[in-house]
Amino acid sequence: MSRKKKNIMSFFCVGFIAVIIATIIINSVFVKNEGGIQLAIGKHSSALIGLSMASVIDYGDHYQIACHYPQTGHKKVDEDLRLLAQEEIDSFISLVKAHEQSERFTQDEKWLLGLDFTVVRHSEDIVSFVFEYSLTKDKEESTRLFSGSYDLKTETPIVLGRLFANDYDYLGLLAYLTKNSLSQREDYEQIKEEGLINNTLTAINDNYSCFALAKKHLCLYFPVGTLSTKIMQTIEVEIPFSALGDCFLLKNGQLPPFNEADLLYISANRHPKADPDKPMIALTFDDGPSIYTPKLLDYLEEYDARATFFVLGNRAEIYQETLARAVQAGCQIGNHGYNHIGEFTQMDDTTLEAQVNNTNCAIEAVVNQSRIYIRPPYGSINQEVADKLGVPIILWDIDTKDWKNNDTKIIADQVIKCAHDGAIILMHDCYFNTVEAIPLIIKALKEQEYQFVTVEEMLVTRGIEPAGGKIYYSTRVIK
Ligand code: ZN
Repeated sequence: MSRKKKNIMSFFCVGFIAVIIATIIINSVFVKNEGGIQLAIGKHSSALIGLSMASVIDYGDHYQIACHYPQTGHKKVDEDLRLLAQEEIDSFISLVKAHEQSERFTQDEKWLLGLDFTVVRHSEDIVSFVFEYSLTKDKEESTRLFSGSYDLKTETPIVLGRLFANDYDYLGLLAYLTKNSLSQREDYEQIKEEGLINNTLTAINDNYSCFALAKKHLCLYFPVGTLSTKIMQTIEVEIPFSALGDCFLLKNGQLPPFNEADLLYISANRHPKADPDKPMIALTFDDGPSIYTPKLLDYLEEYDARATFFVLGNRAEIYQETLARAVQAGCQIGNHGYNHIGEFTQMDDTTLEAQVNNTNCAIEAVVNQSRIYIRPPYGSINQEVADKLGVPIILWDIDTKDWKNNDTKIIADQVIKCAHDGAIILMHDCYFNTVEAIPLIIKALKEQEYQFVTVEEMLVTRGIEPAGGKIYYSTRVIK
């Protein structure tokens, strides 16, 4: 939370916001009832009791922002909702600023950010908001759906895991029930033919992260392009609570208490904080986490630096606390396969899928990241495999060969000598000498004004939107 706050503060300090921030409290919002979307008239709808809407309307020479988000009258929840909107705004403005610096920029361009929401209500205390985000870049529009559910009585968030008994494979159950429900649709054959269904319904948290709690059922939302590219609207699946059985813990409007351990399930660091006017570099560490990683995190925190960890799934399962700490420190977590056995380009589909999915599961047990980037073991990749993986593939342009040069000074000198703006540096956090090289590297490069950022942050700040199936070596070289 404190990182978010810092984000917000620097946003205001830097003075990105240009002209107007209008916060309008309106009493009528779009409401999602069990029947479908309708325009509700404020106080008359029971779903809206106690809710109001805040809006941020802002514009500059090359952008317009219209963000609307709910307020509940519950302080903690409202702050959460406000930050959520603010993060989207910060991220958008950074994108616009980066684009204004790029060669592709033309003076008459206007980018638009929209955020709107619908309300789904289970009870007076339990309420869900489904947000629709839209980004229009000079006529090219992209949209995203995400949700937030809250218990207003205790002012706590409701993550999916809180709704189900511990140790129960609820994602497996949701995958099964969702498929069942889809098979009742008239257009099921068409959906099946497109072949997206298995991937989209794989039992990982990310696939079921957009949900809402209605009176008697759980709503799951699958945006355009996830289950079908031909059906041009969000596909909503309703799972009756009765189908979820005893493992479902929301009973008579009562939820199990919010567990501090849920906080381990942290939102990922999606938003750039880097100053685009200064050089930046992405330190990346493969093959961990290891016993040396906590020391590395000490160094990163000491120098206010961030890094990206491409972890092995089998190690991530053991070093959960280290992984959570890395995320809290603002680091990005990527996938380096499950156990480093073999090259992705030599694997059959089943083995490849297991290497990737098992690692994603291990990461998602701790981290709530919207997309998990991949660094294939040995950097071995081709376009066919990259397309199959469907997420950004991150290689490197500076190799420290730290596994061979097991010497702190040689490793540090190598990085300092080769550093350039936009570089991605390959290291391994399973070697003592690598970790001890970090303070030397950071101190030397900070003198040259370098910022140490995550891979995603660096790409986005340099105006590159990371795309699935693309291979990145640095901000200069992309295939
Ligand atoms: Zn490796």
